[in-house]
Amino acid sequence: MKDTIEMIASRKLTNGARVLRQYVNKGLNKAIAKAYKLKDSSVVVWKGISLLDNETPIMVTLSGFAKDSDNAKTGAMVQVAILPIHDKPSDNYRQGSASVCGDCKYNGGNGCYVQWQNLTSHWNATRSQTPIDMALSQELVKGLEVRVGSAGDPAAVPVWVWQELLRYAHSYTAYTHQWRSEHGQQYRDICMASVDSNAERQQAIDKGWNTFLVYDDVEPDVGIRCLASSDKTDKDGLPYQCITCMACNGKGKKHINEHLHGATNTIYAARKARA
Ligand code: SF4
Repeated sequence: MKDTIEMIASRKLTNGARVLRQYVNKGLNKAIAKAYKLKDSSVVVWKGISLLDNETPIMVTLSGFAKDSDNAKTGAMVQVAILPIHDKPSDNYRQGSASVCGDCKYNGGNGCYVQWQNLTSHWNATRSQTPIDMALSQELVKGLEVRVGSAGDPAAVPVWVWQELLRYAHSYTAYTHQWRSEHGQQYRDICMASVDSNAERQQAIDKGWNTFLVYDDVEPDVGIRCLASSDKTDKDGLPYQCITCMACNGKGKKHINEHLHGATNTIYAARKARA
């Protein structure tokens, strides 16, 4: 088995054209999933106690490593979710549990962009799984673009998990609302600080963060517009997605802006939370 996996893994592409890399690496991931008898739609890579409430069992799941995610904004990135193990994610969110979202102002049914109710089948498919080895997890994201936190906050999970998981990924995006806390500072090299006003942005910049500002009535002081929300096109003439941008992480110095958007009721709830 080990020889088979090593032979498959040796064929992974770590550089070069994205479309070819995605096609080859996801095809090889399908073969790895079959060899290890894993679901090729979703696996668990870590389980432990939340670092945001220090009591709730949570897990980190991977999807989109063999089949493309249909997320129109991010494109076919590997999606990494941070979810509670025992409580249904939508209940956890409505109840405002700090376990995977900490003190984010949108927690508690207050206009979060994540469609928590759509995660129930993914949660049911993953919550009783045993986490796979870190070496195998690294193999499943090798050479691919990864979105850390398709749901949940990366700061709920020990930073070493991200450092190890992302070691051979082609690139990644990540965001945290925990940029103010002492605990959150260790995620600064990985995540953007999620901020909701120019004043919050300045506080995060003063702490050394890259920032992602969701603005509403007041224009941003600094930064550039999120490319996936702009009318710019990539080198192939296609609308930008995160997978063709990959700006949002803790590397370098950058500040991104996006106007508050979403379904009408989500925006209404978010505006109340921001007030
Ligand atoms: S700036 Fe780029 S990576 Fe960040 S959210 Fe927008 S498209 Fe995605």
